[in-house]
Amino acid sequence: MSRGSFFESVSHYFNRAAAFSDVDKGLIDQVRCCNSTYRMRFPVKRDDGSIVVVEAFRAEHSHHRLPTKGGIRFSPDVTIDETIALAALMTYKCALVGVPFGGAKGGVCIDPRTESEGFLERVTRRYTAELIRKNFIGPDIDVPAPDYGTGEREMAWIADTYKNLKINSADTYACVTGKPISMHGIPGRRQATGLGVYYGIRACLEHQEDMQPLGLTTGVAGKRIIVQGLGNVGYYAAWYLQNEGQAIITGIIEREGGIYNTNGLNVDAVFNHRKAEGTILNFPGAQNFTNGMELLEHECDILVPAALENQITSENGARIQAKIVAEAANGPVDFEGEAILSERGILMIPDMYLNAGGVTVSYFEWLKNRAGVSFDRMLSRHEELVKRELVEAVEQLIGAKFPGDQLPRLIHGPSEEEIVIAALEQSMTKAYNSLHRVWKERKLPDLRTAGFLLALERVAESYRHHGIFP
Ligand code: NAD
Repeated sequence: MSRGSFFESVSHYFNRAAAFSDVDKGLIDQVRCCNSTYRMRFPVKRDDGSIVVVEAFRAEHSHHRLPTKGGIRFSPDVTIDETIALAALMTYKCALVGVPFGGAKGGVCIDPRTESEGFLERVTRRYTAELIRKNFIGPDIDVPAPDYGTGEREMAWIADTYKNLKINSADTYACVTGKPISMHGIPGRRQATGLGVYYGIRACLEHQEDMQPLGLTTGVAGKRIIVQGLGNVGYYAAWYLQNEGQAIITGIIEREGGIYNTNGLNVDAVFNHRKAEGTILNFPGAQNFTNGMELLEHECDILVPAALENQITSENGARIQAKIVAEAANGPVDFEGEAILSERGILMIPDMYLNAGGVTVSYFEWLKNRAGVSFDRMLSRHEELVKRELVEAVEQLIGAKFPGDQLPRLIHGPSEEEIVIAALEQSMTKAYNSLHRVWKERKLPDLRTAGFLLALERVAESYRHHGIFP
């Protein structure tokens, strides 16, 4: 198998898991293949008036549930193979965490770091118009979200373009998730993937029988962690591991190199340093690694690759010293690298589970847009009145008033963000428990195989009930 084909790597994992299932062979083939792809080229004007042809893709891997869902990547390295692989991972991810969507992904071959904001807006709007023309976007059809190189700004452009071209539809904002709050986004979406990574690592570290062979104690506190990528996923994963989990972030790697401090790096201080200086290097008190890949191989308890795919391969797999590789990015370990890590007893928490927090909260955003009302407003007014009476009764009983800052929370209940975060925590923990149970009970080689097997069986089950014409 040639290296570099991301979809082949995903299919390899899928086939390995499928060997443990008794699903009909034809159905296995259907679950594995990508249902539809749209490859487009369109002209866009640069700021100087010159015209450039932009190549872009959208892949809808599985229509067993609708809408399909998946992020849009802006990167000069995007290919159709990569887009299909990421769409396939979305199908399995949604099935694993119980989000009722099929998998999709988009890619646009541009470098957002070197392009002007105006150019990026023109590309995003034209890309959206192309998707509309071919019926590759819509609240019931296919719902994009942010991914590598895109964020709230791009999602706002997509929502606005869709809204203006589809004027008759009531729930237009459900056509895309990861939007700014001011544009019908949902609080908690920005940090969702990174926070989900933290919950996933925490769930994994609770199992003493899995930690013992690695020579690790249970719990996140005190674990020495190296993170690759300080973007949306990496920043929030590192932040929560440090601030909620009390882990020690010893190393951070970005595209220009890495920094290391055995006593720990303050994630916010590093983030601000990079913002101010334009580089992660020369952070006070830290050792510089001009080649970030070297820091990937440094001693630590947990390595969190949160940047791109194919970071751990046959080239460096033998030199990785981490005891756990927590795949926050999609596909950071290729199948050759995976074989080496497995043989060396390194535990991998698979991407399809670990970074599912983003799509989970996207699902909440989509539900909210469909319902046209926020979650905290859905709590009944009656409930609020009952609580107010209760609070007054307790105040009379104790002869004192509740402090003013406690009162709104007691009466109004949790905020929308609190509801979203509690649901995310529950979803990540529950999904890990199913994954772990399947791994152990069915005596599977690893968590990844358990993940692919569970996802295959769930998608196949859904196909059995609907999705196959007689
Ligand atoms: P992002 O663009 O916000 O951040 C990526 C970061 O990685 C950037 O800071 C970039 O400078 C850095 N980077 C690039 N090349 C690097 C290198 N060679 N070494 C070290 N750092 C490098 O992207 P993101 O949204 O954080 O996505 C990161 C990964 O997580 C991708 O694999 C993506 O598919 C996956 N993912 C993202 C989401 C989401 O909600 N954003 C959800 C699920 C999975």
